Amino acid sequence: MQDILIISDLHLSRDRPATINLFLRFLEEQAKSAGHLYILGDLFDAWIGDDDITPPVPHILTALQDLSTKGCALSIMHGNRDFLLGKAFAEATGCNLLPDPATVDLFGTPTLLMHGDLLCSDDEEYLQARKLLRSEAFIADFLARSIEERQLLAAEYRQRSGEVVSLKPADIMDVNQRTVEGYMREQGVQQLIHGHTHRPALHQFELEGMPARRYVLKDWHETAGSYIRINSEGITQATFQ
Ligand code: MN
Repeated sequence: MQDILIISDLHLSRDRPATINLFLRFLEEQAKSAGHLYILGDLFDAWIGDDDITPPVPHILTALQDLSTKGCALSIMHGNRDFLLGKAFAEATGCNLLPDPATVDLFGTPTLLMHGDLLCSDDEEYLQARKLLRSEAFIADFLARSIEERQLLAAEYRQRSGEVVSLKPADIMDVNQRTVEGYMREQGVQQLIHGHTHRPALHQFELEGMPARRYVLKDWHETAGSYIRINSEGITQATFQ
């Protein structure tokens, strides 16, 4: 069985070409020989609809499609910044859009995968805004606007929302441990992997009287991308440079 790779929070955007190049090289040098690549949200720093294909989007779509047609399964979860990734994106890349949360089998270990924002339950204001932004009515209204109008609205929202203004972890609330345990218990898993908080770590604790683990992925930068590799030997957290 081939290795499984998991990444999150690349925040790809036109303004950060070095991170895009790092990601394209990661696909080439690491993902191509893997069996499955999971991207746990915020692949893009912003996504205002599948019909906005201004550069560098086409380049990234082609690279993802190339990966999935060469035999690496591709599963992508929505993040809080790219939750509008839709059917056309999935078709163009050959990816499977994963629900959040999703439980998957990683070399025999049932594992809960999440973006992570749902775990930050102390930020009630954010969770309320999240509900509104992801409501069918809001999405339908937003997608019916022109690309220019959507770009303006997204920029406006970015200015208003604390989380979106800054990528500093200090501005993103951390997870609530009870919420973490609630999701894990509900799904009957002892292992959770997520991103979003930009606080990379391995947290070990006890759940239902058994050892439990929560892996947090680091966000990507110009010169370094964090990833998790899973194979028959176990799980390793690594950095791609
Ligand atoms: Mn996020």
